[in-house]
Amino acid sequence: MTRGRSAERRVLVAGGGIGGLTAALCLARAGWRVVVFEQSQTFGELGAGIQITPNAANVLHYLGLQSSLRTCASQPAAIEFRHWRTGKVVGVVRLGEAAISAYGHPYYHIHRGDLLRILVEAAERSPGVELRAGAQVRGFRRQDAGVRVAVADGAAEREREGVALIGADGVHSAVRTALFGAESPTFTGNVAWRVLVPTTRLAPGDARTAAGVWFGPGRHFVHYPVRGGELMNCVGVVRKSGWTVESWVEPGDHAEFHADFAGWHGDVQALIDNADRGSLHKWALYDRRPLRDWGDGPATLLGDACHPTLPFLAQGAAMAIEDAAVLASCLGTGQPEAALRRYEKLRQARTAMVQRLSRRNAKLFHLPAGAAWLRDRALRFGLRATVARIFRYDALRAVR
Ligand SMILES: Cc1cc2nc3c(=O)[nH]c(=O)nc-3n(C[C@H](O)[C@H](O)[C@H](O)COP(=O)(O)OP(=O)(O)OC[C@H]3O[C@@H](n4cnc5c(N)ncnc54)[C@H](O)[C@@H]3O)c2cc1C
Repeated sequence: MTRGRSAERRVLVAGGGIGGLTAALCLARAGWRVVVFEQSQTFGELGAGIQITPNAANVLHYLGLQSSLRTCASQPAAIEFRHWRTGKVVGVVRLGEAAISAYGHPYYHIHRGDLLRILVEAAERSPGVELRAGAQVRGFRRQDAGVRVAVADGAAEREREGVALIGADGVHSAVRTALFGAESPTFTGNVAWRVLVPTTRLAPGDARTAAGVWFGPGRHFVHYPVRGGELMNCVGVVRKSGWTVESWVEPGDHAEFHADFAGWHGDVQALIDNADRGSLHKWALYDRRPLRDWGDGPATLLGDACHPTLPFLAQGAAMAIEDAAVLASCLGTGQPEAALRRYEKLRQARTAMVQRLSRRNAKLFHLPAGAAWLRDRALRFGLRATVARIFRYDALRAVR
């Protein structure tokens, strides 16, 4: 294959999840042509909810997605932290207008499918972005001033050229394996249940119709409305063994989910009882230490591919979105390989800090009774500082 002139301005992205699509939009805005390869037959995701915090909303607004977000995301007034059995509120994070005035951008709750649709539609409108579904990145080779990527496209395997390859291909990243070999993640001992509950099945006015995080010994439960309040997204995390599959698509057994939260407050029970059983999934949570290197030559990683983050701080996708903005700013300045190394350097400390804080929360959320009392008292003081540290980061200015 001869090297086409257009390859000089083309960036190849493996993975069309939240990170890969946001990267494509940021890069296109910076003047790059971008090809996104997604292994699934369609862009979009089987989904439940996702929390988009102000540090991530900042980037999505910069991409012009504010009005689309407004139509299908909700902006919670607050998140309440509660005792698992009594329902007593032990801590509150004020959001809504308070989040906008403190951090400059809103806090959104949104269905993942809606967020992905918004990103895909924006990519389809962008003349610089080419979306390729059913295209699995298999490997890559370095070549003069760029990269050649092997993509399985149905029965055929093709090659595409670009100046850089961004591995935004998630927790089981093929690009990361090609760069650094197979990894060996550690099972955290926690399993996450995810389910959606139609809110018409719930009584109005209860705590269960708002955003809440319930702390209990060895487990916690999170719920918040998505799709304009039509559905309640629920995540229950339980310390347990016997399940090691790390995937969004593994179905879960409702009786087991129910048993995991036996004895919990009636509001949590009502959510579990009214859950849409077809939407119940089970995901084993694995931990990975921060990677020393994220890339080499014309290839780098982004999002879960390089810093998978436990879901105890709702920051995994936010970190991928921040990465995308910083990567595009770096690629806008100077020689591509040097720009990729600069991006990695700018992002490593922050994403490692968020991985560490999420890991710490995995312990704090599940403390037994005595220690939990101390945690709940400390929550009143510690929460605001942690939240500010995460929400105030401005990915659009990180390079400057
Ligand atoms: C229970 C739970 C709750 C969470 N809640 C939140 C939250 O509230 N807020 C938040 O910010 N984060 C949250 N997260 C984390 C968040 O889901 C991830 O961090 C985020 O999805 C990472 O995005 P990504 O684009 O890096 O990877 P992914 O979303 O995994 O996307 C990777 C994409 O690459 C594709 N792909 C994979 N391999 C290839 C290949 N070889 N070629 C082509 N395509 C490929 C995949 O099909 C996929 O579409 C949560 C995680 C869990 C487990």
